Formats: sequence, C-alpha cells, structure tokens
Amino acid sequence: MQWITEPERQTPVIADVDLLVCGGGFAGVAAAVCAARNGARTLLLERYGFLGGLVTGALVVTTPPLDNGINIEIAQRLRDRAVYAPCRYPGEEVAYLNLHAIDPEIVKYELVRMLRERGVELLLHTYIVESIVEEGGVKGVIVENKGGRQAILAKMVIDATGDADVAAFAKAPFRVAKKPMTMMFNMVGVDSERALAQIGNWSNLKKFVKQAIDRGELSFDLGIYMEFGAPGVHAENLIYPDELNIWSGNLLGMDGVDPQQLTQAELITREHAMRLADFLKKNIQGFENSRIEYTATQVGVRATRQIVGEASPSMEEVKTKKFEDTVVKPYAKGEMRLPYGSLLPQNVENLLVAGRCISAEEEAMGQLRLIPVCSATGQAAGVAAALALRQGVTPRQLDVSLLQRALSEQGMELGLQKVVR
Ligand SMILES: Cc1cc2nc3c(=O)[nH]c(=O)nc-3n(C[C@H](O)[C@H](O)[C@H](O)COP(=O)(O)OP(=O)(O)OC[C@H]3O[C@@H](n4cnc5c(N)ncnc54)[C@H](O)[C@@H]3O)c2cc1C
Repeated sequence: MQWITEPERQTPVIADVDLLVCGGGFAGVAAAVCAARNGARTLLLERYGFLGGLVTGALVVTTPPLDNGINIEIAQRLRDRAVYAPCRYPGEEVAYLNLHAIDPEIVKYELVRMLRERGVELLLHTYIVESIVEEGGVKGVIVENKGGRQAILAKMVIDATGDADVAAFAKAPFRVAKKPMTMMFNMVGVDSERALAQIGNWSNLKKFVKQAIDRGELSFDLGIYMEFGAPGVHAENLIYPDELNIWSGNLLGMDGVDPQQLTQAELITREHAMRLADFLKKNIQGFENSRIEYTATQVGVRATRQIVGEASPSMEEVKTKKFEDTVVKPYAKGEMRLPYGSLLPQNVENLLVAGRCISAEEEAMGQLRLIPVCSATGQAAGVAAALALRQGVTPRQLDVSLLQRALSEQGMELGLQKVVR
C-alpha cells in the first residue's frame, strides 16, 4: 500500500462534556437518556441526520417485546403516537420473542424528543474518525463533519456505534463477525388480503420466489452467494394494512467495516430489492398497484466488530445464569441476562460499550443483537457512566451493586433479589 504523511495540525475542541455517547441507535439513545436522567452532562454524536440506527436507517422495524426498563417508555411512546403499530403495552399478552412492527418515522421523532426532554445535547451529521487516548483511557474523539476536523473531549465515553469504532480506534481488543447483510425496503399499495389469498402466508413468498428462480424467470445471481437462494417476506413485518416491510435476502461473506465491500453490498442488495419488487408486482396478485415506497438508507449490516470484554458469556450462560454482576435483563418475561463485564472492554479505561458490539460468545450474539437487548445494554451503560462520574471512579472500579440498585429503582427489573441489597 502507498502512504502519505499528513502535516501536523491544530484541531479545534468544539465541546468538553461529562459523558460522550457515540452513535444514536437504540443503544446510544437509551444510554444518553439514562445517563442524563442520572445527572450526567451528556452529548450524543450521530453520523446521520436522524436517530434510531439500524431500526430507522436500515428499516429493521420488527422487534421482540419492549417490556423492561427504558424499553417500556420507548414502547409507550411508539404506541401512543402510532396510527396502527402493533407494539404492545407492557402487561399485554404477547408471546415471548414474538416480533412486532414499529413505524420508523415515529421512532425517529420520539427518540429525539426523549433526548431533548432529558437535556441531552445532540450533534448530528458528525462522523467519529479517531479516539483520543491518554494514559490508557479514552478522553474523547476526533470527528469530521461539514465544519471540518474537530475534537470533542469527555470525562467518559460510551461506544454505541454498533461497529465498536471508538473501542477499535482506542486499540481495545475486538473480533470481527461477518454476518449476512440485507437491504430492507417498504412497499405501499399492497392489497394484503388478495395477496394472502394466493400465497397463504407471507413466509410462503419465499417459496414462490424460489420457484421463479428455478424456472429461470427471476435471477438474483450477481456473482455473490445468497443465503436461502431466495428472498423472504414475513407477515409480522406488516406495518400498516397496505404497507409491507420486505427483507430482500441475505448477502454473505462481506465485511461491514470495509468501505469497498460495503459499497459492493449496497449496489448488489439494491439491485436485489428492485428485481424482487418487480417480480412481486408482476406475479403475485394484490401487488399489481404496489410500488417501493423507499429502500433503507443503508444496507442492513448485522455484525462487524465486537469487543473482547471483561466477560464473554456463552448462550447457555446468558439464558440461564444469574450473574453476580447482572446489569441487563432485556425482557420482563424470560431469563436472559448479561453481566457488567460484557460492557467493559479489556485494556482501555473510561470506556463502556453498548448495543450490538458488546462482548459475548458468537453463538449468543444472535439473540443479543436484538433491538430490546441493545437498548437495555444502553440503559445499563448510561447509568453506570453517570454513577462512575458522580463517584469519580472509572467504569471498571464502579461498585456493581450500586448500579444494580439504581437500575432496579429505575425500572429495569433484574430479577436478582438475592444480589441486590
Ligand atoms: C437485516 C437485519 C435484520 C434484523 N432483524 C432484526 C429483528 O427482526 N428484530 C430485532 O430485534 N433485531 C433485528 N436486527 C438487529 C437489530 O436491528 C440491531 O442489532 C440493533 O438495532 C442495533 O442497535 P445498536 O444501537 O446497537 O446499533 P445501530 O443501530 O447500528 O446504531 C449505531 C449508530 O451509530 C452510528 N454510527 C456508527 N458509526 C459511527 C461513527 N463512526 N460516527 C458517528 N456515528 C456512527 C450509526 O449511524 C447508528 O445510528 C436485524 C439487523 C439487521 C441488519
């Protein structure tokens, strides 16, 4: 590779805060809201012009129940504003881990309101490109935006970028997971009743598409292997009666933090999306008057970097174990729990990690990347940061029993009566 040496330069410091939350997905928003509620002067940075991360940016709009901790507030806000959005109020009967569609535009709107009501500062259209590290601790980040290259200083930082950007820039250990990528898109004008009369249920669409591929009427062969050989459409993805949220197949083997591969993935999956929409319109009754309303802002990248933290629990442990340092219980029903060590990167101080880049064994991450888990880890990281700041200790030095008590008092039922004194 060819290299150039950039001239030394002075970088303006545009903010100096208690807590900097990097990334405005469900994990980052939950972290910022909960930290501010616990007294931390908090700034949230986000590269896009809206919040919600993959939920809004990649149109991943189906979530298991949002029924514990900060998720209850999120669910209530979405439900109260939605014309029709089947996310349930807490206490309503829902099957554990059933998926519910949420409206991405309402998500964008309500997440901003939640931050503003708690006094969180927000800086959008700002890309984090480097971590500032002194004596083994993260002291802030370097960002780039329309204002040029700038520095933001912070007493503590939460990495909720989904890709562990801040942790990786700070040289915390991480591993890379290459999970399938998917372009999600929404179609409007669908006569769902007639479509379902032809195909039985939405999952059957995959069968219809596969048959068309086998007959040579539809091709997704763009030189890249597609999982399942065909895209799928799922009934639970229905947002409004005439609107479908469609999953256009899995693109395998691409690296979501490699810009060239990410570019390829965008091009290929958008081509898939358009071919699939054309096929549905021409071949499935009820789709005659439909059209793509919008494709997602970005291809859905399930996983990239994940930190190697103080703890890396297995699937079995996450599902059954009451860790002494349990600080996350994403669902009111079900026994899933996570230890504080999953949020603490090894070797780097002043940094907590929340969301889909936390530390756990790969097998467990399939469940831990789900939306309610990401926001629950955000809540734990946000409260931990605020408590550590108040006590003048690093996140690693924090007395976890204080964190557990604060989380319980603030609505995250950890189900640990014996541990929380
Ligand atoms: C195709 C697909 C289908 C899925 N299906 C489901 C499902 O059915 N149900 C479910 O519960 N979950 C599902 N998931 C998983 C779930 O959507 C995500 O794991 C979850 O939303 C991640 O939330 P997060 O806040 O951790 O990260 P993200 O949503 O990725 O948020 C990270 C935020 O940080 C910002 N950011 C990143 N890097 C930078 C930077 N350098 N500078 C500034 N900002 C930055 C991003 O723009 C983003 O807003 C799916 C995911 C995909 C991709």
